[in-house]
Amino acid sequence: MKGFIMFRKAHLLFTLLCAGSTTAITIIMSLLYLQVAEKSLYDSRFRSFQNDVSTITASLEQSTYVSMQWLAKIEAQNGYVIFIVDNGVPFLHNTLRSKIDYDSQLLFDESLATHNSMLQIEAPDTRSNSYSGIWHAEYEFTSPSTSDSYYGSLIHIEHNAALSQIMILCPQTTMHTSILHQRTLFLLIDLAAVTALFIFSWIFTGRLLKPLQENQENQMQFMAAASHELRTPLSVILASHECCLSASDEERAGFSHTIRKEGRRMNNLINDMLTLARSGTSRFLIERRSVEPDTLCLNAYEAFEPLCRQKNIALSLSLPEVPLARCNCDPDRISQVLSILLHNAVSYTPENGKIELKLSYHKDRRAGFEITVTDTGIGISAEDKRHIFDRFYRAEKSRSTKGHFGLGLAIAHEIVTAHHGKITVQDNPKGGSVFVVRLPE
Ligand code: ADP
Repeated sequence: MKGFIMFRKAHLLFTLLCAGSTTAITIIMSLLYLQVAEKSLYDSRFRSFQNDVSTITASLEQSTYVSMQWLAKIEAQNGYVIFIVDNGVPFLHNTLRSKIDYDSQLLFDESLATHNSMLQIEAPDTRSNSYSGIWHAEYEFTSPSTSDSYYGSLIHIEHNAALSQIMILCPQTTMHTSILHQRTLFLLIDLAAVTALFIFSWIFTGRLLKPLQENQENQMQFMAAASHELRTPLSVILASHECCLSASDEERAGFSHTIRKEGRRMNNLINDMLTLARSGTSRFLIERRSVEPDTLCLNAYEAFEPLCRQKNIALSLSLPEVPLARCNCDPDRISQVLSILLHNAVSYTPENGKIELKLSYHKDRRAGFEITVTDTGIGISAEDKRHIFDRFYRAEKSRSTKGHFGLGLAIAHEIVTAHHGKITVQDNPKGGSVFVVRLPE
């Protein structure tokens, strides 16, 4: 339970770390993009306003009078506000606007004030455009009364000592609306991206942590099983030792036999644990030698033959008739693999069963040797087959079997893999299991 809470916390933490950092990057990128996009929008709008003003100025230079209809058309087309000023007083320039109302007058005054203050600061030759008789200057201003922003331009026309002015104002409201739309759209996209990132990170880190969690659970289960397995022989040893103190010579021999037997069991378990612990580090070394594979099989057969006879199990050995090439492997380790497989076969095969140890060349000779251990035992379920080579795994049915710690096949797997070989399991069509070890020559 503690482990589960710890992994939950780690899962949450990794998700926050993973999604948090990518979210921060996404938001920073979005803000930078928005800043650049908005600046270029302002710039291009101002440039297009300047172009319009230049076009209007050029037309004014060529004609002797100002057409009201033409100005009204420009005003309607571009959403501009245009004032014609005569001797400092604005008057209507088209038929649509019948009188200068209060708001328009205020807007005109505010714009003119900004223009004049700007001209006071700037030297006359820095006016944006100057021709003989006609010049204009562009500026930007925000109306103090309405807080609306505008680009403005005042065109001065000197003609026969009389001065007329045309003021063109370009409201920035439409641009602000499209910027607001753009920002809302980005906010929504960012929200969707952040949600997707959190979901993805949760699933991704969950998958990442799952093997670690399973491994830790397996280790904890193993520790519990190992300590249980060690405690049993240890209690027997201590109890036998107690009894030895007051026992007769004859009884003492029996007790010391028990102590030796239980001690050996403990020794086996500890050796298995050490072998696996070493296989996780560089200390798991294979000492290869050129050996005869049939000799290894023969030795294994001879070692298990008495045990099989005791259990009434028929053990047979099958060797190829052709002479075999020598195998470059660690004979002690390969013998250990054969011993694990045969020991399991004997353990999980009932009386009157059969076990066959067979050595042959692989179908493709270059792929090396194949050693199979076939039994007619209880067989292995499909689910167990997926896990039996995992460390600490024991099928439920074998948990009570003394001397089995769920490490044998994991050790066999490590040894065969270290030889660049392969170990697999399949069902025996006659019932039971077939373990196949492939070893390169
Ligand atoms: P154990 O020490 O428990 O036998 P192993 O790693 O050698 O551990 O085997 C893992 C599990 O695989 C065993 O607990 C057993 O359930 C199953 N198993 C291994 N060999 C056989 C077999 N020949 N027949 C049936 N089940 C087997």
